[in-house]
Amino acid sequence: MPELPEVEALRRRIEDGALHRTIARVRPGNDTAHIEVPDAAGRKRLEGRQFSRATRHGKYLFAGSDGGPWLALHMGMAGSVRLYDDGDAQPDYARLIVEFEGDRRLAFRDPRKFGWARVIDAPEDEIAARDLGPDALAIDAETFAQRIGQSRGAVKSALMAQEKLAGVGNLWADETLYQTGTHPETRGTDLGDGKLSDLHTAMRRILTGVCDTNATYSDLPDAWLIHRRETGRACSRCDGTLTSEKVGGRTSYFCPSHQERAA
Ligand SMILES: [Zn+2]
Repeated sequence: MPELPEVEALRRRIEDGALHRTIARVRPGNDTAHIEVPDAAGRKRLEGRQFSRATRHGKYLFAGSDGGPWLALHMGMAGSVRLYDDGDAQPDYARLIVEFEGDRRLAFRDPRKFGWARVIDAPEDEIAARDLGPDALAIDAETFAQRIGQSRGAVKSALMAQEKLAGVGNLWADETLYQTGTHPETRGTDLGDGKLSDLHTAMRRILTGVCDTNATYSDLPDAWLIHRRETGRACSRCDGTLTSEKVGGRTSYFCPSHQERAA
């Protein structure tokens, strides 16, 4: 499931190839049953406009300009954005196509249809309506410590709660816990100030690191958990063996040797 760094990579695609071009037409893609995409009136609102900015908050992507309207995208389980030119084959699983004047095209793809596309007035409205917390790359240490440290539930679940902070999902929550030696089921209220500070620092370092590779996992350091998310694999940080457990309904990979529960 695309998390903050994966969505940031898509945002950069739009920024690099789809800004300041007049939108000639917006049309539905293939097989748009059971997925939310803008209706004719919504699509019409974008025509004649340009995207002057592409922004992101957590896992939500927005393309538009001051005063709106904006195209809001959520990738669900497997959504993505693909830029191509007229004459190239239309990407498979395209659910919405933005046709710019000239050849450039933007496709919102979603093979599994858990994502959506919407035309909205302003990103702030969507962020408020969904009660999203601060973006995980923007949240300061103090706010992070409050929001995670006051959680009575598992720290893994707290990191993934989008109303506490937006952008972290299963993959990068596990990585943050692994790199800080934190057991995923540790209660937020059992984390000390030092550990909360470590978690904040590690989370930002990890998310930034993944963004720097445009979410190309093979370019990430060998010692990261991302390369060994399998039960029975050797830990890269100690002599332990990795295991998995459901925490908050999601499979968590961790090392029971160096990721200790708080006393
Ligand atoms: Zn270990």
